[in-house]
Amino acid sequence: MPEPTQHSVRETFDSGIPPQHGTSSVIVVGAGLAGLAAAHELTRQGVTVTVLEADSRPGGRTWTLREPFADGLRAEAGAMTVTEHCHYTMHYLKEMGIGTEPSDLVDTDFGYHRNGVRIPPDKVGEHADLLGLHPDERHLTVEGMIARYVTEFNEKLGPEIAQPVWAPTPRLLELDRVSVRRVLEERGASAAAIGLMEPFFLEMRGGELESASAMAWARYESGPRSFSTAGAQWYKVEGGTDMLARALASRLGERILYRKPVVRIAQDDREAQVTFLDHGRLRTLCADRVVVTAPFSSMRRVNLSMARLSAAKHAAIRRLRYASTVRVFLQMRRKFWPERRLMLSTDTAVRTVRDATPHLPGPRRIVECWLTGWQAQAAAAMSPEERVAYALNELEPILPGARENFELGTSVAWDNEPYAAGAYILPEKGHSELMAAIRAPEGRIHFAGEHTAFEPNGGSMNYALESSIRVLMEMSSP
Ligand SMILES: Cc1cc2nc3c(=O)[nH]c(=O)nc-3n(C[C@H](O)[C@H](O)[C@H](O)COP(=O)(O)OP(=O)(O)OC[C@H]3O[C@@H](n4cnc5c(N)ncnc54)[C@H](O)[C@@H]3O)c2cc1C
Repeated sequence: MPEPTQHSVRETFDSGIPPQHGTSSVIVVGAGLAGLAAAHELTRQGVTVTVLEADSRPGGRTWTLREPFADGLRAEAGAMTVTEHCHYTMHYLKEMGIGTEPSDLVDTDFGYHRNGVRIPPDKVGEHADLLGLHPDERHLTVEGMIARYVTEFNEKLGPEIAQPVWAPTPRLLELDRVSVRRVLEERGASAAAIGLMEPFFLEMRGGELESASAMAWARYESGPRSFSTAGAQWYKVEGGTDMLARALASRLGERILYRKPVVRIAQDDREAQVTFLDHGRLRTLCADRVVVTAPFSSMRRVNLSMARLSAAKHAAIRRLRYASTVRVFLQMRRKFWPERRLMLSTDTAVRTVRDATPHLPGPRRIVECWLTGWQAQAAAAMSPEERVAYALNELEPILPGARENFELGTSVAWDNEPYAAGAYILPEKGHSELMAAIRAPEGRIHFAGEHTAFEPNGGSMNYALESSIRVLMEMSSP
């Protein structure tokens, strides 16, 4: 059978995944969405599946925080949006009987907070000196800047960047060798304009635009999920994003073993062996195949010396970069700000400030400080208590009254989560060199998860789910 493509995976998924031949047992490493979907589909096919999960909950980077908040408030530490173009996410939500509702990220009163001044995106020209815009940018709104510097650029790249099914061409591969910042600067964008547009480059927010691949960015920005093209209706999962993982996990029941971090993976001609910690003792399970869904940031800590992996795979595991993100959630006694749906891009250390609970009933609100890049790394180095105090301190001048209305806070620093060690993949310059090696199966060991997607910017639930279907196709091929 030829290597699966994005197109063939979709066709197979829609027409029915073929049964497995010659595989009767599979160990899945990780109970995030990729692992859960793979295990769910394999179980349906009668394969004996064991899921080894290091954490005490399913879902991985889909993680809805319900504690320590009052009044039933909740906040998303990880994934929070889905669009109608997320074919696989929508499919599994439907199958599990879970609904969607409009996302918190659209229909906001988005604005900038720069040098202590609140600036709406259509009024940036009025603050051109304060912002440091070039003379020829002064008449532009942020939308206009995106049209000039991003949309026009993507249009020039033509259909090869925007095809629904991805296949990087030589011209796009050239683009993979330069950074997002360089492309924007070459098009004449000032540092100020780049700073104003950056909040719209969602997947690059963890990142230094200096190192991010322009190819990966252009591909994302030309697609329907992009914030700047707004080509899709944005939704969130009713009841919290973790509902999907919880529903899949409940179908799998005791096939999932929690608090079982995998520490070694090996294979020989007969079987694959997975060694994990079971309350401090090493245990090994054997199976026909292994599906590894743990992010490479976590796999770097697993002993793979007996896994018979190619040099290219080892290199990809070592090199793949992840974005740094810290999300701090501050419960406020009441909504004390004038905006209907608060969302601010700030030039302070807490970067994005938003009302994380605009749709939830009751007087209380959770204000989120969403830190990325080096600011996230600085906050990740703090203790949890310091992090909350630090965010509150930064918030007070942005939202006067924050300290007075603050009740309690919590945070997630994704770099510190031991089995994530980062938020989502950050495709750096040269990412195309790694892509095939990241997802290639190695004997009895298969690789799924967001990082193995066909899309260079695969950091989404949808591509994590897609990767599971690809792995099932790989395994069913004789
Ligand atoms: C802050 C943030 C915002 C995001 N926003 C969105 C969004 O709005 N929309 C969207 O679609 N996506 C979003 N994403 C991305 C999305 O959450 C991920 O792409 C997706 O959930 C990844 O699923 P996965 O199964 O590939 O990996 P994971 O969810 O990371 O699952 C891997 C699992 O493996 C386990 N594991 C790791 N190492 C080991 C080990 N050694 N032994 C055993 N188990 C191990 C982990 O504990 C984890 O449960 C966001 C992610 C983050 C962090």
